[in-house]
Amino acid sequence: MMALCLQMEWAPFFFVQAEEKMSSNNSLQSIFHKLKGTHEAEILQKMHELYSKIAEVQAEWYKKSGFTCPQGCGECCRNFEPDLLDCEALYMAAWLLENQDEVANQLIQGNFPFPDNKGCPFWNEEAEYHCSIYGGRPFICRFFGACASKSKEGDLVFKPCKFYPEEMLAAYNPLLSHKQYSQSEVKKIFGALPPVMSNIMEKAISLNPENQKSSMLRDILPSVLKHLKWISDLV
Ligand code: SF4
Ligand code: SF4
Repeated sequence: MMALCLQMEWAPFFFVQAEEKMSSNNSLQSIFHKLKGTHEAEILQKMHELYSKIAEVQAEWYKKSGFTCPQGCGECCRNFEPDLLDCEALYMAAWLLENQDEVANQLIQGNFPFPDNKGCPFWNEEAEYHCSIYGGRPFICRFFGACASKSKEGDLVFKPCKFYPEEMLAAYNPLLSHKQYSQSEVKKIFGALPPVMSNIMEKAISLNPENQKSSMLRDILPSVLKHLKWISDLV
């Protein structure tokens, strides 16, 4: 996962408008309640806190920088299928059970909504915001376009997504390009700092240090969903 994260660091991401539009469809309350006291509920709660932290830092970043993806872009997902840590697959499964039970039941049989996509099987070409599981999406998709990485010296560095339109970069003063910006430049130009991907991924990996490997979404999600549904039907 980490190798992929580093590759994808500056590629992709999403738009604030989608977050606002879909936040009302982002509840896990009833499944949290059902799973209360289980190991799964504990992991889900910690994941929820990490995802909320990303959203909180990004909200400040978007507010101060105004640096948001062009509406309807979504190029980052077109040919990209995320790989997932177990904790990300668990959160995605819980979100599906809570918010899209028909899709969840189909997925348990191995049927994805958009199976012919070269990339992510949740990417909907026709929809305005493209991602059909926005509230359950994994870390990499939450970082798309609005995160920083660390330099060898440990400082934050930021590079605008390669798909970010030149004319939008040119509207900044000083004029921006697709180069990498240092922490002090980012602070000066944007007035805020985006979240640092590696800091948050370290916390995610620490949720299950014995199993740090990740698997492609299509490979891991059906079995995790099946397992979670089984537990939530039992308790
Ligand atoms: S600008 Fe980049 S990060 Fe943003 S939606 Fe487009 S491809 Fe994704
Ligand atoms: S989960 Fe959503 S945001 Fe992530 S790659 Fe798939 S369609 Fe894109």
